[in-house]
Amino acid sequence: MDRSPTVAIVGAGMSGLCMGVRLRQAGIESFTIHEKAGAVGGTWRENTYPGLSCDVPSRFYSYSFAPNPGWSRQFSPGPEICSYFERITDRYGLRAHIRFDSEIVSAHHDGERWQLQSAGGTKEAADFLISATGVLHHPRYPDIAGLDSFQGAAFHSARWDHSVPLAGKRIGVLGTGSTGVQITCALAGLAGRYSLFQRTAQWILPAPNRRYSRMTKALLRRSPELNRLAYRAAQEWMEHTLGEAVVHPGWQRRAIAAVCRRNLARVKDPVLRRKLTPDYEPMCKRLVMSGDFYEALEQPNVEVVTEGIERVEPQGIRTLDGTLHELDVLVLATGFDAHAYMRPMDLVGPQGQTLADIWPDEPHGYLTVALPGFPNLFCLMGPHSPVGNQSLISVAETQSAYALWFIERFRAGALASVAPTAAASARFNAELRAAMPDTVWTTGCNSWYIGADGLPSLWPWTPRRHREMLARPSLRDFDVIGAPPAPGVAAPAPAAATS
Ligand code: NAP
Repeated sequence: MDRSPTVAIVGAGMSGLCMGVRLRQAGIESFTIHEKAGAVGGTWRENTYPGLSCDVPSRFYSYSFAPNPGWSRQFSPGPEICSYFERITDRYGLRAHIRFDSEIVSAHHDGERWQLQSAGGTKEAADFLISATGVLHHPRYPDIAGLDSFQGAAFHSARWDHSVPLAGKRIGVLGTGSTGVQITCALAGLAGRYSLFQRTAQWILPAPNRRYSRMTKALLRRSPELNRLAYRAAQEWMEHTLGEAVVHPGWQRRAIAAVCRRNLARVKDPVLRRKLTPDYEPMCKRLVMSGDFYEALEQPNVEVVTEGIERVEPQGIRTLDGTLHELDVLVLATGFDAHAYMRPMDLVGPQGQTLADIWPDEPHGYLTVALPGFPNLFCLMGPHSPVGNQSLISVAETQSAYALWFIERFRAGALASVAPTAAASARFNAELRAAMPDTVWTTGCNSWYIGADGLPSLWPWTPRRHREMLARPSLRDFDVIGAPPAPGVAAPAPAAATS
């Protein structure tokens, strides 16, 4: 028996595209990628702020099956990354599968299939639902009195208003995460006066952003082996340094911490240095990579404001010491709600259970990809995915190969419906909790990593362990519903672990 599985993918960002490529490579054409916007690229389409670049080396922030010889820099700019996803969409024939302006608002499992509904009222049924809705998607706005009263231009970093002139203006930026730091490097020299409002100092890893020469690009273009080798080298480097440092106390953690401390010591002005000195361990918050942040702050037109904010007034920001910092432009680089996951999509399992029912405090799942009670649902970048300073593309590849393994078994008639058991999910989450104390994220700081349960919503082991744990799906951990294997039908071999 051979059945053609219908697959609905929600989101045409990096991970949704990855799933599409995997399905096509497996010869499955009966899939639709629903994208609520009019273009692919996800976070790289939505974020257009000045200075936007990837803080994972571009060599590694690429699909392993499509390394890009043409990256312009070690950490390539956002528009270049967006163009890469556009090219992948065309090269792998995905465009015909994408339904743009199709926001899926609800998905209900009726006991046999997923019934999806879009914001426009279109209905569709699918055997498999793949959630590829991203992690850093919903902008988080600060709860500061008077924000609406500001008379200048104010916007979130992910909603940049490009009609607002910046040169020579008094620019205020709220937030010192990766975004605030990148914006600062791009705008501090352009602004008439630049005020960075810092609630918590950040550790900065000095990462110079080297430009690749024409010769390097030509060489990698001519030699696909070398190009793949460059990908592997960048992966090995990232996984054996930062990948280890964040999850085990050891030499990698000590070495990276020492580099950050030495970098901070380069700030000459002792008052500024004191303001920029964090009171927690490097990497506890997501480590910020920047080769020129401190230099940007040392310019005479720049101030780092560490006084608490009392309120926003029509003319600017009033801090608790009574000072009014007059501004023309206010940028809220205040991050995202990283814990919303698939929401606000209304997801309902066959027994009527919702995400609110299974996630009373924080999102939890099974092996970062599946949820008990929700059959034939696979999440890319699901709860506790290894997102800490690693290439999310590599993670999406592992997760899509895992989902494909089940889709292929469905195609072979070996199963109709699978969902991880509650017991397997509970066991996995107990192991996660037990591993957390070794991680740097629990050493005493506040960050977007920490969920409402007080624990980091991250993978507490190495990226390699994630690949190993997902390489061989264990059906013992699943409620397998429906069709038993048809006589004579051999189950397909598991998809190879990727990257
Ligand atoms: P973030 O790391 O969550 O930083 C938000 C910043 O806003 C923090 O400095 C925070 O201060 C501050 N903030 C929030 N609410 C505030 C309030 N009410 N008053 C004052 N300050 C407030 O957000 P992000 O910088 O947008 O970065 C999020 C993640 O996106 C990064 O960690 C990274 O994973 C990703 N990112 C990646 C790249 C890339 O190159 N790949 C680039 C940008 C972002 P506290 O620290 O005190 O909370």
